[in-house]
Amino acid sequence: MKVFSILAVTQAADWGYEDQGDSWNDEKCVNGTRQSPINLQTITATAKAAGAWKFKNYDEKADWTIANNGHSIVATTNTDMHMHSDTFGDDDNYKFHSWHIHWGSDSEPGSEHEMDDKQFDAEAHLVHWNTKYGVVCNSFDEAVGKGDGLAVLGFFIEKESENDASDDHELDRLIKKDVDENVQEMDAQVNPQDKSLMELFVNNADTSQFFRYLGSLTTPKCQEAVVWTVFVDPITISKETYDHMIVMTKDSSDTSLVKNFRNVQPVEGREITLYTAVSSALSTFASLTVLALAFFQFF
Ligand SMILES: [Zn+2]
Repeated sequence: MKVFSILAVTQAADWGYEDQGDSWNDEKCVNGTRQSPINLQTITATAKAAGAWKFKNYDEKADWTIANNGHSIVATTNTDMHMHSDTFGDDDNYKFHSWHIHWGSDSEPGSEHEMDDKQFDAEAHLVHWNTKYGVVCNSFDEAVGKGDGLAVLGFFIEKESENDASDDHELDRLIKKDVDENVQEMDAQVNPQDKSLMELFVNNADTSQFFRYLGSLTTPKCQEAVVWTVFVDPITISKETYDHMIVMTKDSSDTSLVKNFRNVQPVEGREITLYTAVSSALSTFASLTVLALAFFQFF
């Protein structure tokens, strides 16, 4: 499984976020035509209905390795997890690979995607690879070369104002207690146990509405391999958690890593879909209604 971590760490010394990616000189970063992140516009997106998400083993209490790779914290596990949705192709089988987070500074937000020109405080990315291109570990590298080789689930993260005091959830606790200052130095690792992806991310947002478009990795070499999903509803964290997040890691020059996001890229005429998931009973009803309307229109 060691091969899995290569993508995250190989270029650690080669690039940074000084100009939010504008000077990255890899071929796709400069000349690509389906680059990420982008500004997701509700009004111009194509609205479609979707069935429910299927998350397999996302509720497993997994053991994690969380490492500082100089660009973010990157979390990996040996627990086998998959996700599917009828919004992907029938033969697509997306296996969980890793998650990481992009954040801002104490005064500026740091999500990668924007929604209707709004940048959120932070953004978590759950990276998956398409096992239709092979089931052995080193196929992740192969998947990066395919247009639908990776699927990333993006969750916007919003910090509460100082006065709000909703209960901490598992992501708050992970950042404040497990990660905290344990991964300050580059390549430092920590091994939190018994944390599920449902508790960390999925259960903390409404996943029934999401944007979908074809894009790229948001780090060099900006490979155009990603089927993006970005959920509309943000995960809320406490201000205290966010304050920990922006000082929890240092980069290769030994300074606190802040604003580790890439600027938004041109949409280049791509179709952006805004899916709303409906229960199967509702979607059957919706289909019948559409059929009935078509019938009456025809006559
Ligand atoms: Zn990312």
